[in-house]
Amino acid sequence: MPKTECEHCRILEERDVKVVFESDKILAFLHPKPAAPGHVVVVSKQHFPIIENVPDFIVSDAFKVANRISSAVFEGLGVQGTNIIVQNGVAAGQKVAHFAVNVIPRRQDDNLSLQWQPKQLDEEEMSTIELKIKEQTASIGEFEQETAEPVDVDKKKVEKVKGSEKDNMLIKQLRKIP
Ligand SMILES: [Zn+2]
Repeated sequence: MPKTECEHCRILEERDVKVVFESDKILAFLHPKPAAPGHVVVVSKQHFPIIENVPDFIVSDAFKVANRISSAVFEGLGVQGTNIIVQNGVAAGQKVAHFAVNVIPRRQDDNLSLQWQPKQLDEEEMSTIELKIKEQTASIGEFEQETAEPVDVDKKKVEKVKGSEKDNMLIKQLRKIP
């Protein structure tokens, strides 16, 4: 699909949505037709059709943001749960060919159907499936490691100052006690 026909790329360009978070790599916005109030879509700013195409560091960033958005939804809307969902491929309900993570706020008895009936497979079937998947997972390589963060000396100083301010406030408070 050419970039111009991509709905998420169009949104990234036209910004005709309610943006709740933005970084250099990620945009998070309210789904225009939400599954529930507060349904947020987290997209990579670069166009990738499916999650398999997305570099590890962007996948990592997108899920970190989705996790924070989930907390924001919990705190901001006082919901009781969230579903964090990637629709990967047409069969999985993916409608826009541009990688996205959906954060869907949940409440008790909201009647959203994301449930499934548990299936009972026999031992042979389970073993066959295990083998088929393991053949593929054998080639999973090492993931990108985060580089160690340099020690921020100035930040430490600031924290120290803040700490002493806190001490001063405590002393002031203590003085007020008769
Ligand atoms: Zn796109």
